Amino acid sequence: MEDIEIAQRNEANEIQPITKIAADLGLTADEVEQYGPYKAKISTAALQRMRKRPNGKLVLVTAINPTPAGEGKSTVAVGLADAMHRMGQKAVLALREPSLGPVMGMKGGATGGGYAQVVPMADINLHFTGDMHALTSAVNTLAALIDNHLQQGNALHIDPRRIQWKRVLDINDRALRHVNIGLGGPTSGVPREDGFDITVASELMAVLCLAEDLADLKQRIARIVVAYTYDRTPVTVDMLGVTGAITMLLKDAIKPNLVQTLEHTPVLIHGGPFANIAHGCNSVVATRTALELGDVAITEAGFGADLGAEKFLDIKAPVLGKTPDAVVLVATLRALKYNGGVARRDLQATDPAAVRAGFANLQRHIHNLQQYGLPVVVAINAFANDDPAEMQLVQDLCADQGVKAVPVTVWADGGAGGAALATAVNDALSTQHQFQPLYTDTMPVEDKIQTVVQKIYGGRDVAYARKAQRALKTIKANGWDHLPICVAKTQYSFSDDPKLLGAPTNFTIHVSDIIPKVGAGFLVVMTGTVLTMPGLPKHPAANDIDIDANGHITGLF
Ligand code: ADP
Repeated sequence: MEDIEIAQRNEANEIQPITKIAADLGLTADEVEQYGPYKAKISTAALQRMRKRPNGKLVLVTAINPTPAGEGKSTVAVGLADAMHRMGQKAVLALREPSLGPVMGMKGGATGGGYAQVVPMADINLHFTGDMHALTSAVNTLAALIDNHLQQGNALHIDPRRIQWKRVLDINDRALRHVNIGLGGPTSGVPREDGFDITVASELMAVLCLAEDLADLKQRIARIVVAYTYDRTPVTVDMLGVTGAITMLLKDAIKPNLVQTLEHTPVLIHGGPFANIAHGCNSVVATRTALELGDVAITEAGFGADLGAEKFLDIKAPVLGKTPDAVVLVATLRALKYNGGVARRDLQATDPAAVRAGFANLQRHIHNLQQYGLPVVVAINAFANDDPAEMQLVQDLCADQGVKAVPVTVWADGGAGGAALATAVNDALSTQHQFQPLYTDTMPVEDKIQTVVQKIYGGRDVAYARKAQRALKTIKANGWDHLPICVAKTQYSFSDDPKLLGAPTNFTIHVSDIIPKVGAGFLVVMTGTVLTMPGLPKHPAANDIDIDANGHITGLF
């Protein structure tokens, strides 16, 4: 059955009014701003009231290096929250907001799957509460204001060839990657080369997700570097004098969105930055609110743990002021086999030798998370035809490392399929641990990069292209070198080569450029080429989606 069918059947019978979910969390009716019966934003007054509450425990869900199909981080996160909810724990989930790009492009949603889903599923994956639209408007307003500045005499001496700020759309549209604008003579603007990104790739999305509140959002927006002058001086939003206007457009988008799982567990879905050129986690505001509303807050980070968890721990956690109390590392037999060298078309076949070989990947992720001093539980996300002997093998291999691995059937069984995982996570939450940061702010940028490459990726050294070397000089000259790094790298390998699977060693990471995102507060370390405006595939998901005269949707995953 498709995810949308499961969601529709269960939604129709059981979805609760969002005011009921809010009331169960201790929120009053006027503390939620409703968007229809099943979606709400939490008001600023409520968020301020929550700040006085003590924090619950924090669980981070991450994964091994995946197959291109995704290994079920969101699904396991939803199922774990449902399992805890069933056990009578006050669990609150904080997840990322879906982009329309993948919805129309490749199959795959962002609201979990099977019986471990967040609802109303179609709404969340489409226009939801309008956050993506607000971000798109804000980014494009800023772009229009920059071009108007050029048109009106360019008092700041902005070099039109060094404008960093791009326009955005929340859809995969490769035809807009490179465009010429300002054509049509003096009344139609200053001609220049420009390009569009997808909304979630914009720095403003990362800014929204790392801002602590509206005041911090405003300060971060003021700091965004949109361009450089002819003599290479950075030009900020503040210098353009439009910080207030851009912040205003996000006054509602900064508030977290409350929805529920199929089992009525509360979920905050808020913000969804890319996991390569940004940090790939939902908003600080949502995670903090989940910590204040629940005894346990469960959140996830994009891609594998080498990217997602590292960025959660080194970029988001310092802003959040809280590190995880336990980490769930999601693995699947298919991803282990893929990392063990099996071709994608053969992943269904039983192959314990490949599972054993691919375990090297899982083992390195376990070791990496333990370096931070964090308790780790492995969740083996079970698929219908998985071999029980291979499942047992993974459990045994993890036991040899002193780590508990638990098969999870939440996709098929909902929260009931996550009971063993919930027990293991609760055990992990009660163990003593001491968080160890990977690097410090004051380390030189090159040392931060080297540390991540050696300690997380298992690589040997780093090679900088000329552009990256020049960028390092700019970063130092402007005093941005205290910022954490955000590596844009393939999600399929610890290295920058997507074909180097398993646990490669002795490789070099090639840094092509380093892009300061001063508003977000990190330095994007580019390895290889990263598409910030994806294209649609040969057979887009859009070709399978339909809606009938009654508004009944089919084909949405
Ligand atoms: P991630 O968060 O790691 O990208 P998701 O949880 O979004 O992964 O899952 C990716 C896709 O795989 C979804 O369409 C989901 O329904 C499907 N999926 C996840 N786990 C299972 C499972 N155990 N059996 C079948 N399909 C699954």
